[in-house]
Amino acid sequence: MTNHFFELIRTRMPDQDRDFIVPAGGAGERPRLSYGDILTLSGRMANLLVARGVQPGDRVAVQVEKSPEAIVLYLACLRAGAAYLPLNMAYTLAELSYFIGDAEPRLMVCAPGQAAAIEALARDKGVGAVETLGERGDGSLIEATAGQAAAFADVDRGPNDLAAILYTSGTTGRSKGAMLTHRNLASNALTLIEAWHFTADDVLIHALPIFHTHGLFVATNVILLAGASMLFLPRFDAEEILRLLPRATTMMGVPTFYVRLLQHPELDRAATAHMRLFISGSAPLLVETHESWQARTGHRILERYGMTETNMNSSNPYDGERRAGTVGFPLPGVDIRVTDPDSGRPLPQGEIGMIEIRGPNVFGGYWRMPEKTAAEIRPDGFFISGDLGRFDEQGYLHIVGRGKDLVITGGFNVYPKEVESEIDGLPGIVESAVIGLPHADFGEGVTAVVVRAKGATIGERDILEALQDRLAKYKLPKRVLFADDLPRNTMGKVQKNVLRDQYGDLYSI
Ligand code: AMP
Repeated sequence: MTNHFFELIRTRMPDQDRDFIVPAGGAGERPRLSYGDILTLSGRMANLLVARGVQPGDRVAVQVEKSPEAIVLYLACLRAGAAYLPLNMAYTLAELSYFIGDAEPRLMVCAPGQAAAIEALARDKGVGAVETLGERGDGSLIEATAGQAAAFADVDRGPNDLAAILYTSGTTGRSKGAMLTHRNLASNALTLIEAWHFTADDVLIHALPIFHTHGLFVATNVILLAGASMLFLPRFDAEEILRLLPRATTMMGVPTFYVRLLQHPELDRAATAHMRLFISGSAPLLVETHESWQARTGHRILERYGMTETNMNSSNPYDGERRAGTVGFPLPGVDIRVTDPDSGRPLPQGEIGMIEIRGPNVFGGYWRMPEKTAAEIRPDGFFISGDLGRFDEQGYLHIVGRGKDLVITGGFNVYPKEVESEIDGLPGIVESAVIGLPHADFGEGVTAVVVRAKGATIGERDILEALQDRLAKYKLPKRVLFADDLPRNTMGKVQKNVLRDQYGDLYSI
């Protein structure tokens, strides 16, 4: 098997007339892009990268709105042997300044409206060149690409060479650049195609951002290696998705997609009759969402688990029971173990501990942070994920939360997920987040932030009474607070750090 990811795309490429991006119509309408087009365009763009001084191993930092051209730019970087480094549009100039200083890209591609500010920053940080790329394929990058030759001899790359750097969201401490290799991308995409039965006949609804592993590597790489097509939406839009479902076969989404689609009465069996698979990940899918989706559409969502540093680790089965509230079995070729967080000793099945992962999917380390890398990868190659979980009797992996979200109260460990699941099961509750807040007596006080259904009147005392018989006393929240919704990032993850900041002095110690 070749290890150069673009080489792999080439060898598996369908007939060049086949669609890679199918026009979706509607507000975000863009022209179709065939496999032949992406070959030609990425060749032209790779020539431009070289003309701008990009050499093998150089970083190309990209902060642009989602567009098919941004995918072409990613492919051009692979071909030129450069590392593609996508950045969230939400980052401020101050945040960008850190990323640019840390990554030292040769070239920076930004949105046309940002050009002046980014050029100043680039001069300051010694970035060689700046180009612009707009949401509709406008900007200097595309203009300059037009004048380049389409033929390009792909730069040779080995399995462990860098293909991309993705910065982690960094909710605690500095954001770290995860170095993804050609082998990481190749092995994971091939594994997922098999596991999820993708073929060239698939049409994926792509409404995820492409600065993150989910939209870029899981969704796009799978489609590229399957020779399949995508309906490429600039952003999530429930009405657009409902309109496109009859033309699609699959969708990958974060749980919020499913929650929002369920709010539309048009979502039913007929609307999803053409679909073969709905996949969810990046944040926990509530059991309630899972069940409502099945009741309304007849489809059982397939939930999987991954992260920036490791691509995908585990998945519920395609054939076989898709168990709600779990992230399924380790993917073929991926080893997962649960260990004691302090000693690193593997724990017996059923016990909760640190999830550790080993396989060809695990990244090559953090960019310019050898100590962090050494601290998070064990000598036998297992990556310490930071997620706590357990395997049940049938071997399904359950995630109980991030290690840093564990609440330690009076010396006892409280896993937020256990308390949240009990609260979420009560009538009139939409969802909840359980956090630990500084508390003079207990160290941390278990605290629940709860979102009620419209019109529900269930109060703090009702919830505490209902939980009394279900949870040990030390797990009971000291306080239950109500909110209209929970703070979430773009990938649908509840931002517990924001809640901890917001309510930090509740027990004012
Ligand atoms: P990111 O690096 O942004 O992709 O975030 C990775 C983290 O998202 C993981 O370490 C998990 O904490 C969380 N995550 C991803 N998928 C799931 C899932 N299906 N259920 C629960 N948490 C998930």
